[in-house]
Amino acid sequence: MDKVVGFTTTIPVEILFAADVIPCDLNNIFISAEEPMFYIERAERDGFPRNMCNWVKGIYGVVMEKGIEEIVAVVEGDCSNTQALMEILKHRGKKVIPFSFPYDRDRDVLKRELKKLASYFSVTPERIKKVEKEIEDVRRLLEEIDRLTWQERLVTGYENHLWLVRSSDMMGDYKKYGGMAERFIAEVKTRKKNDAIPIGMIGVPPIQPDLFEFIEKKGVHVVFNETQRQFSLPYFSKRMAERYTLYTYPYGIFYRVKDILGEIKRRNLKGIVHYVQAFCYRSMEDVILRETIPVPFLTIEGDLPKGLDSRTKIRLEAYVEMLIQKEGV
Ligand code: SF4
Repeated sequence: MDKVVGFTTTIPVEILFAADVIPCDLNNIFISAEEPMFYIERAERDGFPRNMCNWVKGIYGVVMEKGIEEIVAVVEGDCSNTQALMEILKHRGKKVIPFSFPYDRDRDVLKRELKKLASYFSVTPERIKKVEKEIEDVRRLLEEIDRLTWQERLVTGYENHLWLVRSSDMMGDYKKYGGMAERFIAEVKTRKKNDAIPIGMIGVPPIQPDLFEFIEKKGVHVVFNETQRQFSLPYFSKRMAERYTLYTYPYGIFYRVKDILGEIKRRNLKGIVHYVQAFCYRSMEDVILRETIPVPFLTIEGDLPKGLDSRTKIRLEAYVEMLIQKEGV
């Protein structure tokens, strides 16, 4: 069986596929488990504090419980906790490969990081080129699913979220993922158009499983999932270093704001919900976001991978009600 290599957030997955290993986004394993709390509890039993981000605990729990031995850890450009997590995993005897997205988006520095990763996995540039081309075809299908969400209004916000968030590892098999995407596209084309109020969801992917269903039942349609769309790398430059510097997520808030403002216009979004994770340093970015986003803005916070609490439900209901009145629908 091919070796599984875990990772802590989106990385240039083309290199892992070219190395014939099975890439595995640890976040996806954690959140799609039947009992994600199982992984958090494992981390807490091993001494992780209660008052820290549960995504980090979930990642740790998955590595330990699934026996993943090799992990690519993004130590710059993702999460302020990853360095300590990497050290704990090393201490547990795991092989950890650090990868960095340079904060200033310096393409030469990123090129060096890509080279280092390729050399670690002993892949040749020719092999990477071949895989990149095949993966680009899958990325184009994901872009089409996104277009079918905001332009044709045929895909739900939750489906959009799932297709794009899973693109980080393409469920370990990009050819199969591409085939699934083709069948999904054919299926949604027979649906009726959704004419609920179009809104966007920004911030890290939400941890609560029922958020999309709850909000969409109230009368809005989530047609923009900021971070999940970024994970799908909707950039089709021929050079990998260029694609991964156009990718906004690791490079600070101002580059993200530019992308969000462009998509509000393009997708005609009437509101933005900012999801923040409890104990995440990124929550502070809310200060800048709420001062720069020009449409009605709501910030909600999640903590555990459980259903929405009643306070958040009331706030979401009031927000959607306000949008319905404002838009006169
Ligand atoms: S939600 Fe924030 S703290 Fe948690 S893993 Fe993501 S970036 Fe790190």
